[in-house]
Formats: sequence, structure tokens, C-alpha cells
Amino acid sequence: MNFEHINALKELLSSPKKIVVIPHKNPDGDAIGSTLALWHYLNIKGHKAVIVSPNDFPKFLKWMPGANQILNFENKNSICKKKLEEADIIFTLDFNHLGRVGQMTKTLEALDTAFVMVDHHQEPSDYAQIMFSDVNMSSTCEMVYHLISNLGDADLIDHQMANCIYTGIMTDTGSFKFRGTTGTTHRVIADLIDKGAEGTEIHHRIYDTNAPSRLHLLGRALNNMVILKEFNTAYITLSQEELDNYNYVKGDTEGFVNYGLTLEGVRFAVIFIENKEEGILKISFRSVGDFSVNDFARKHFEGGGHTNAAGGKSEKSIPETTSYFLSLLPQYKKLLNA
Ligand code: 5GP
Ligand code: MN
Repeated sequence: MNFEHINALKELLSSPKKIVVIPHKNPDGDAIGSTLALWHYLNIKGHKAVIVSPNDFPKFLKWMPGANQILNFENKNSICKKKLEEADIIFTLDFNHLGRVGQMTKTLEALDTAFVMVDHHQEPSDYAQIMFSDVNMSSTCEMVYHLISNLGDADLIDHQMANCIYTGIMTDTGSFKFRGTTGTTHRVIADLIDKGAEGTEIHHRIYDTNAPSRLHLLGRALNNMVILKEFNTAYITLSQEELDNYNYVKGDTEGFVNYGLTLEGVRFAVIFIENKEEGILKISFRSVGDFSVNDFARKHFEGGGHTNAAGGKSEKSIPETTSYFLSLLPQYKKLLNA
């Protein structure tokens, strides 16, 4: 981490401050884990910190220590706006452009507050006064660990913070198997376990909480999968009607996209999920190897992310979107067969 930035942050935090910590919209384990860990830390240090999430987050993250204190911008709008307007510092975690916070974007853009970014996605925009941006990091949670350590406060990481940080590293690395998982990641995990993180229990709470309807929805999704051998690609669609039929709740489709990549030879997997309320399809892209889904999502689907995991959206119907998607593949044939 850049020591000039560490020192600037130290200076900024040298007296008690009002602070808001923000994850991206539809926060995942890394976004919630990192905001909670940082929030615990800032409060231990004597600041008045709150977390404002752009919207709700899945049930399988609600057990996390402090999760019940997270303010939801969608249903606590005026309190959240007040907190944001009063803040001396705003930390934005696990995202790197203000468009990633949905309805909250306008409010943030109107503020004249010191922003601190902590993030590991590609191509950050430059809204932050202090920017910790590292695309080589496994997760924002790992960055928060290094940040607290570099501020000289590793000893303040208690077992609650350790559980939060462990969770985000685990979810963002696909349980320590994705390419961003380094020796340092494992050393961080080792230290978190020494500090009291309960790895087995965390894994169980995140991954073993299925309702039968979710497994049935997974069955539907797998039945819908289209395999395009020519392009080493597999994609899944789920319509709003299908989601409704299987009593969909937020978080149910998490991880479905990865099943495409378990097919021998498949290097590119996609899921298109209809969201009638927002009038869009939310799209997840995954790849193995050098095919950059970040570039693909950015170029064609108003999205972005990492080389091997990215998201985007479409305002067209499922058939229109998939046929557009299919029309794009020939230009990538070489890359997908490399
Ligand atoms: P997921 O497919 O799990 O929603 O997201 C995969 C990765 O891409 C995550 O790191 C997420 O933050 C990022 N991502 C998801 N949707 C979008 C999007 O619409 N825009 C950008 N820039 N990144 C996204
Ligand atoms: Mn992340």
C-alpha cells in the first residue's frame, strides 16, 4: 500500500470524525465483510461511524457481527441522507465508480466530503481524495486487513472483525481457489484464524443455508443452460416468472453462473436474470484464463469488474439480449479457443 496515502489517512483520522462507510449496490460477502470490519475498527478508534448500504443484502450475510446496524438507503432514506450530509469522511468499499450505488449516486455526487476508496476492481474513476486501489488484491476485505495493519493497528483486529474479513476473502476467492489468491492471502487468513475467525462455521453459514426452493431454482437454471461448444461458452437465463415460481429471495441465484465453468472446456459462463421491478436483466460474467469478462462487460453491457468475474445489465428482453450476446461471440472466437 502507498505510504503517502496511509499517512494522509492517518492524518485524516487523527481526531474523532463522523464517518459513513458504503458498500456497492446488491452487496456481496466482500462488500458487507469489508464495510463491517472497517466500521468496527473506526468505532474502536473513537470515531462515529455508520454503514449506509444502497439496498438490502442477502439473508446468508445477516448473521455477520454488526449487520443489524447497517442502514438501508432504500427504506431509511432521510436518515441515510442526513448521515451522508453530516459526514466528515466517506469510505467507499468494494467499488470504484459512483454509478455502482444505484439511487445513492446523486446524493454522493452532490457532496463536498473527503472520499476514501478501498477497492480491487479494474479502472477506478477518480472521485476519491485518498485512493487505495489494487487490482491484484483477492478482495476488499484483504485490503482492509492490510490497511488496518499499515495504520499500525493489527492488534485491534478482534475475533468479530476477523470473522468479517475472513468472510469476504472466502467469498471473493471462491473459497481460496481463484487466481487472485496469493501466499499473502493465505498468511492473512492464518492470522485471522489466530485472531479467532471461525472458518468452518463461516463456510457453513454462507453456503449451507439453502431453502428447498433455491435448489429447485438451481435445477431450473441448469435445465435452461445453453452450451455453445464452438465458443467454449455456456449461458443460463432466468425470467422473472421462473424466479417467482420458485419463491425467489435475494441471494438465491448467487453462484449459479459458476456451474457453466464446471463443464469441461468451457471458459466463459454467463447468467441473465430478469428483474421486472428495475426493468433490466442483471448479467453475471465469469471466465477462466485470459479472456477478460471485465472488458466484455464494459464494452457491451454497461458493466465491469475483474478479468474473470464481472457484471453488467441490459434493458432489453431475454430473447433480444441473448441474441445480441450470440451476435458478439464470433469476434471473440479466437480468444475463447486459445
Ligand atoms: P456479480 O456477477 O457477482 O454481481 O459481480 C461480479 C463482479 O463484477 C463483482 O466484483 C462486482 O462488484 C462486479 N460488478 C457486478 N455488476 C457490475 C456492474 O454493473 N458494473 C460494474 N462496474 N461492476 C459490476
Ligand atoms: Mn470484492
